[in-house]
Amino acid sequence: MAESFNSWIEEARNKSNVDLIDMIRGMMMEQRSQCKLHSASWKGPLVPFVEDYIRDVTTRKEYFIIRQSTSTKAEVEGSFERHEVDIENHFCNCGFWKLYGLPRMHSVAFVGTNCHNLWHTYVDEHYYSYKLVI
Ligand SMILES: [Zn+2]
Repeated sequence: MAESFNSWIEEARNKSNVDLIDMIRGMMMEQRSQCKLHSASWKGPLVPFVEDYIRDVTTRKEYFIIRQSTSTKAEVEGSFERHEVDIENHFCNCGFWKLYGLPRMHSVAFVGTNCHNLWHTYVDEHYYSYKLVI
């Protein structure tokens, strides 16, 4: 993002502040227009890379031991890792879910055992297509 911005303003470095701001405004308008045209082709409720991610993690075959403490909390143990997962609060102690808004493989394994297969409900709302369609 910063590199893209720097390449944008490179040609405008010698312009006055007003011209520079006007040029950036115009470029941002073009970028939003391109984003709108691109997002019109999205079919699913989630942005395409998240749809791909969910498809990938839900179809992988990995083995986990799941020690369930409540209907929504469990300790999930894989070959080299052990995590506490709380699907109700979208939490895993590895921090990935909180940081990226997406469950990792071990969290998905627990979600799958509970027949909570509405995968879209476990993704942060900022990945929904309607949030990005302008
Ligand atoms: Zn995790």
